[in-house]
Amino acid sequence: MDEFDFIVVGAGSAGCVLADRLTENGRYSVLLLEAGGSDMNPWIKMPAGYGKTFYDPAVNWRFEAEPDPGTGGRKSYWPRGKVVGGSGSINALVYFRGLPGDFDDWRDAGATGWGWDDVRPHFEAIERPVDTMGRARGAGPLAVRDVSDQIHRANRHFFAAGGELGVPINDDYLESTAEGIFVYRINTSKGMRCSSADAFLRPALKRRNLKLVTRALVNRVLFENGRAARIEYSRGGQTVSARARREIVLSAGSVSSPGILQRSGIGPGRLLQDMGLPVIHENANVGGNLQDHLAISYYYKATEPTLNNVLSPWWGKALCGLRYVLTRKGPLSLSVNQSGGFLRSDPGRARPDQQIYFNPVTYTTTRAGTRTVINPDPFPGFIISFQPARPTSRGRIDIRSPNPADAPAIRPNYLATDQDCRDVVAGGRLIQSFVRTAAMRRLIQEAMPPDLAGMDDAGILADFRERCGTVYHPVSTCAMGPDPTRAVVDPLLRVFGVEGLRVVDASVFPNVTSGNTNAPTMMVAHRAAAMILKPS
Ligand SMILES: Cc1cc2nc3c(=O)[nH]c(=O)nc-3n(C[C@H](O)[C@H](O)[C@H](O)COP(=O)(O)OP(=O)(O)OC[C@H]3O[C@@H](n4cnc5c(N)ncnc54)[C@H](O)[C@@H]3O)c2cc1C
Repeated sequence: MDEFDFIVVGAGSAGCVLADRLTENGRYSVLLLEAGGSDMNPWIKMPAGYGKTFYDPAVNWRFEAEPDPGTGGRKSYWPRGKVVGGSGSINALVYFRGLPGDFDDWRDAGATGWGWDDVRPHFEAIERPVDTMGRARGAGPLAVRDVSDQIHRANRHFFAAGGELGVPINDDYLESTAEGIFVYRINTSKGMRCSSADAFLRPALKRRNLKLVTRALVNRVLFENGRAARIEYSRGGQTVSARARREIVLSAGSVSSPGILQRSGIGPGRLLQDMGLPVIHENANVGGNLQDHLAISYYYKATEPTLNNVLSPWWGKALCGLRYVLTRKGPLSLSVNQSGGFLRSDPGRARPDQQIYFNPVTYTTTRAGTRTVINPDPFPGFIISFQPARPTSRGRIDIRSPNPADAPAIRPNYLATDQDCRDVVAGGRLIQSFVRTAAMRRLIQEAMPPDLAGMDDAGILADFRERCGTVYHPVSTCAMGPDPTRAVVDPLLRVFGVEGLRVVDASVFPNVTSGNTNAPTMMVAHRAAAMILKPS
C-alpha cells in the first residue's frame, strides 16, 4: 500500500494549488487523486472551446439538479470539471476576487483569519496581472490577462450606456473595490487557458515528492482511532487504498466533497443510517448550506455587426480558427463574457448587489442525440444579463447511494427567501435602466421575446423564475465556522469530530462571494496550505 505525508482528493482549482504549495519545500510527499483524466485537450486550452467542454462527458460530470420549486419546478444542468484542473479547466475564465466586504462577512460570521486584510495577500501571491501589452505586474503563477484591446467594438455601446447612467468605468478592478463597469480579466496566457493545473500543478509535477494519479475515483476516508488514516479509491476496476502519515485533504469541490464525507460516515445521522453507512460523526451540515448564483439573459437583435457576424458563417469560423492558430488572438482566445461589472441597484445599498454582463453575441443551443451544439445566430445580436450578487437561499447536496459512481441529489432551493426575490426585481430594474439609455437604443434593433422593457416587478420575477439558470458557482456545502453545530470545518478547515482531515475547496466558503468563484477558491487553497505547513 502506498504511503504519503498528505493525500489530496481532487485535482481541481483548489487541489492543484495545494499540490504545489505542499510539495514546494521538498519535505513532504503528496498523493493527488483525480477522478478525471488529463487536461491536454485542445478544447480546454482554447478559451472558446468552452462551448465544447460544457457538455462533454469525457471531461465533465454533467450533473443535474432536482426539480426546483423556486424556478418553476425546472431541473438545472450543473456542469463540473471531471479532468485535471477540475471546473477551472472548463470554466468561462473570468477572474474576479470578490468584493472586500465578502471576506469581512466571512470573518464577522466567525471565520477568524478570513477577513479581507487576511486574504488579500493570498490573492496577490497567486496572481500575475498582465496588461494589454503583455507586461506582467506581480510574480504569481496565475496569469490574469487584461484583454480590453481585443474585445468586440460593440462593447463600446455598453460603456457609453454606463456613462449616461453615471456608472464609474473601472479600469483596474484588481486594484480597487471592483465597483463599476469594466472588461472582465481572464485567466489566459498567450491566448490559451491558464487554469490552476497550468499555473500550479504542471510545474510542481517536476518534483519527485508529488504523485498525481488520474482516473482514480475516491470512495471514502477510512479512520483509525478517530483519525483519518487511509483513502479508498477505485481505478481500472480495482479497489485501491493509500495511507496518509499526516493529513487527508478533500478538494473534490462543492458537489463531491460532501459526498465523500457522507460515504466516510460524517454527515446527517438519518441519511447515513438509510444508506447503511456506519456513523463516525453525526453532522447535519455536511451537504447543507448550499448557495449558488443565478442569472438571466435578455437577447437583442442589433443594428450593427456583433460577434455573430464573425462566428456564424462557416468561413467566419474558419478565419477565426486560422487567426487563432497563427496568432493566438481573436474571438477564440477570449471568454464568452467580455464586459460587465458590479453595481448597486440602489445608491442606499452598502455595496454592489448586482453583477452584470454584456456579451456581443447571441446563440441557439440544439441537441442532436447525445450531442449538444451551441451555434451563434445568423444575424447581429447581443446579450445583457444580471446576477444577484449575494443570494441568501440555502439548499442541500446529499448522496443517493453509497456508490461513488452515482450522482448526488442536488436540491438548490433557489429563490426561497423574500430578500432573493427583491434582489431579482432590483436587478431587472437595473438592466431596464441600461437598455433605455440612448446608447443602447442605438444598438438595439429589437428585443427577442420576452422583452424586459415592458415588465413590471411581478413580471420580472416571474420571467426570472421561468428562464434563469445557474452560473455554476455552488459553494458552502462543507461550510467553515466556529460552531460545530452549524458548520462542517473550523476556520483552519479541519473537519469537526475527527482528526487529520480537512476540506479545502469552494465548499468551505461560509457564504457565496459576490462574483465568480474560481479566484476565491484558489485563494482559499493558498491560505490553507500556509495553515497546514505552519500550524498556529
Ligand atoms: C461551466 C462553468 C463555468 C464557470 N465559469 C467561471 C468563471 O468564468 N469564473 C469563475 O471564477 N468561476 C467560474 N466557474 C466556477 C469555478 O470554476 C469553480 O468555483 C471552481 O473551479 C471550484 O473549484 P474547486 O476546487 O472547489 O472544485 P473543482 O475545480 O470542480 O475540482 C474538483 C475536482 O475533484 C475531482 N473529484 C470530484 N469527486 C471526486 C472523487 N470522488 N474522486 C476523485 N476526484 C474527484 C473532480 O473531477 C475535479 O477535478 C465556472 C464553473 C463552471 C462549471
